Amino acid sequence: MPIYEYECRECKERFEVLQLSKNDGDTLRCPKCQADKPQRVVSLFSSGSINKSSNTSCSSTGST
Ligand SMILES: [Zn+2]
Repeated sequence: MPIYEYECRECKERFEVLQLSKNDGDTLRCPKCQADKPQRVVSLFSSGSINKSSNTSCSSTGST
């Protein structure tokens, strides 16, 4: 089951939410100060898109 981490915009409280549907993010509230629309925290483990662009660096230097 997908568990996402959120950070409150108001008090910077971080909390994990078991998200059953994509629309759950709209109704989430901070468990500490009850502020709505918490910021989604993207895990470092899932951000592997940086190494993907290593192939494009070759074509950018083609100035002959
Ligand atoms: Zn809060």
